[in-house]
Amino acid sequence: MTGIVHLGIVAHLRGDPFRSASALEIIEDGALWVDGTGRIVKTGPRAAILAEADAIERVNHGSAWLLPGLVDAHVHFPQFYATASYGRDLLDWLERSIFPAEIALADEVLATEVAERFVARLLAAGTATAMVFGSQFLPANLALFEAAESAGLRLIAGMTMMDRGGPEALLKSPGEAREQCLALLDYCRGRPRLHYAITPRFALSCSEAMLELCGDLLREYPEAYLQTHINESQGELDAVARLFPQEADYLAVYERFGLVTPRTVLAHDIHVSDGQLARMAHAGCAVCHCPSSNFYLGSGLFPLARHLRHRIPVALGTDIGAGTHGSIWREAGESYKVQQLQGLTLDAAQLLYLATLGGAAALRLDHETGNFAPGKSADLFVLDPGASPYLSERLRRCECLEDQLFCLLHLAGEAEVAASWVGGVRACGRV
Ligand SMILES: [Zn+2]
Repeated sequence: MTGIVHLGIVAHLRGDPFRSASALEIIEDGALWVDGTGRIVKTGPRAAILAEADAIERVNHGSAWLLPGLVDAHVHFPQFYATASYGRDLLDWLERSIFPAEIALADEVLATEVAERFVARLLAAGTATAMVFGSQFLPANLALFEAAESAGLRLIAGMTMMDRGGPEALLKSPGEAREQCLALLDYCRGRPRLHYAITPRFALSCSEAMLELCGDLLREYPEAYLQTHINESQGELDAVARLFPQEADYLAVYERFGLVTPRTVLAHDIHVSDGQLARMAHAGCAVCHCPSSNFYLGSGLFPLARHLRHRIPVALGTDIGAGTHGSIWREAGESYKVQQLQGLTLDAAQLLYLATLGGAAALRLDHETGNFAPGKSADLFVLDPGASPYLSERLRRCECLEDQLFCLLHLAGEAEVAASWVGGVRACGRV
């Protein structure tokens, strides 16, 4: 028999903790059995699993935690080295700092180097699945897909489409954009870990012809996703209202071109009306919340309770480069603070869900990843609090494992990620 048994504290969600109080499973002396094809066989107490899988190779992670690979549902590849750039607000920050960084990826050699480091950083943070805004340049996007495939990252990405509202070097006509999208859609075909996302930057960057192209592509290629931004900052909302005066609200712009579907992920959605939430729920789209980015740009407080009330799937995103780090684990801790400011207190199970199974469900990949259910891809990472003397002492003072998990969600980060496995294959060790 081939495969591997990981030993440690196993924690994951068996279901949605916003609907079930018993969704969180933590097994103290736990084992996670992965078969030779990289699929999960089962989890359970180590004594029981080892009795059954006695001839299988074991990896003992000691007192470290084994957690499902994280899902980062909103992050910009060309902004990898533009984090912590100065800007008064979203639109000023784009002009001043972000567009120049995106133009730099026209250089193929640089783009390949950045793609490899970008993918390595996500894996090193425990992320197994990422939905990524790609470059405006085809070679850079090919480099991104290649880097993800060779490192094992599950990637949903697409060319960032814009034909107005930015520097000439980043603009592509709908005709040029279509050609590049088709080449990348073709590249993803037959590669099970790569998915294409049609990626209009946002309403302000796209002419009606470009938005129309996005709708056409979505209908022609049902396997494709669509990702874009919505309702992020007040200045952006005002500009959208000026540019599309005939539309009732921001969502209506995307609806008019057929862009709001069950395979659509809308980032931010802070300044949203109940009417828009009801229409999003009806369309079956998902929303991605990026707390660090929202703090950084002063965009506002994400109304999670209202999204939950409308049963809209919500994922978390680091939103590099407005987000200042690459860790969805840390975003879960930040999301706690955003909700505390609005009177909603999230527990450990709910925070872990947003970072793992909830994110996978929002991306319609929960049949494949997000928890340790038998048959799923063995996407996991090892969180080792032993690396930090303070953290070890703090955890010793917790009354139960759930309290420890809650502490870890606030106090651990990339530095505590000891290793990642994606599809049962070791993706990286501590970097
Ligand atoms: Zn973004």
